Amino acid sequence: MDRIDFIRNSLLTFLGMSSLKELHKFSEALPSKENKMPLLFVGHGSPMNAIEDNEFSQRWFAMGKEIPQPKAVLCISAHWLTRGTHVTAMEHPETIHDFGGFPKALFDVQYPAPGNPVLAGEVKELIKSTDVGLNHDWGLDHGTWSVVKQMYPDAKVLVLQLSIDYAKPAQYHFDLAKELSALRKKGVLIIGSGNMVHNLGMIAFDKFNEPNYGFDWAYEMNAVFKKNISERNYQPLINYESLGAAAKLAIPTPDHYYPMIYSLGLIEKSDDVSFFNDKAVAGSLTMTSFKAE
Ligand code: ZN
Repeated sequence: MDRIDFIRNSLLTFLGMSSLKELHKFSEALPSKENKMPLLFVGHGSPMNAIEDNEFSQRWFAMGKEIPQPKAVLCISAHWLTRGTHVTAMEHPETIHDFGGFPKALFDVQYPAPGNPVLAGEVKELIKSTDVGLNHDWGLDHGTWSVVKQMYPDAKVLVLQLSIDYAKPAQYHFDLAKELSALRKKGVLIIGSGNMVHNLGMIAFDKFNEPNYGFDWAYEMNAVFKKNISERNYQPLINYESLGAAAKLAIPTPDHYYPMIYSLGLIEKSDDVSFFNDKAVAGSLTMTSFKAE
């Protein structure tokens, strides 16, 4: 080994990569396909959907069987809001129980899906508009595992999360999402996980068990969202603050809305879009979700 090789190998070892080849191995294992993976936006709602057998979780389970088996899942969860954009880069992301006041059974859930530092590096490389951080502290929050656990109960599929830079507006997230589009051709299932209509302050707790119970403004906005998505008319959804009084109630803060903006940014012209779990819950939430394929 000459001196240059020695320095190079030492440097790569220092960086945690045994060789540059390893960096490319993941891509090689994911050949570009004619058929790209579907893309999802999932309304996740109550964390209890992670362990309940209900109409929403049953749909997630069925979706896991219907769509091609992904090589990996990349989830943009409403529950990881950061300064800057980060991607989970650990081998074994921990299951984060980021909620309070729920039964012990929910805190007992472990979802030991593996991560993949090499794929995280590729996500970082794909995004040119900002310097994406490789994160080793987060894991999988319930925005991710409540849904993905129902889709892939055996926890064998790799799961990564991409954070939401909460200092940035919707247009920024819409544009950033487009930089991820190559992943769909590599067998990566991208999921935006939030809720289109999400106003926790106005939840009707006594109506949680009443099927499809929504306030008028929640139904109104649900219709507005679906119409614009169906017509591929994204600009009003990006400029949601101009959508009027009902929108202000539906999106009091954009944490659960931005994951949908990521999914919108990844819809391609050739995709068909279909809605599922198109229901309101407890007045001020909608579970309305879509698949683009
Ligand atoms: Zn949530």
